[in-house]
Amino acid sequence: MLILKPNCECCNKDLPADSPEAVICSFECTFCKNCADTVLHGVCPNCGGMLLNRPIRPKAMLEKHPASTERVFKSEGCSPS
Ligand SMILES: [Zn+2]
Ligand SMILES: [Zn+2]
Repeated sequence: MLILKPNCECCNKDLPADSPEAVICSFECTFCKNCADTVLHGVCPNCGGMLLNRPIRPKAMLEKHPASTERVFKSEGCSPS
C-alpha cells in the first residue's frame, strides 16, 4: 500500500493526504510540486526516478488506512540535479 508521507523531503512543507501539491516517485519519496518543478525538474534526487502526482486516497479509505505521520526530511536540502 502506498505510504502517504506528511511532508516534502526537500523543504519540509506539509503535504496532507488530500493535498493536490504532492508528488512521489515509485519508491514513495515525497515532494511538493514546487520543489519537483523548480529544484528537481521532475526527477527524484534519491533514486533518479520520475516524480508524478500523488493519487489522493478517498476519505473513507483514509479512515481505514490512515496516512503516515512519520516525517522524512533531508536537513541539508535537495541539491539541484
Ligand atoms: Zn518542497
Ligand atoms: Zn525516489
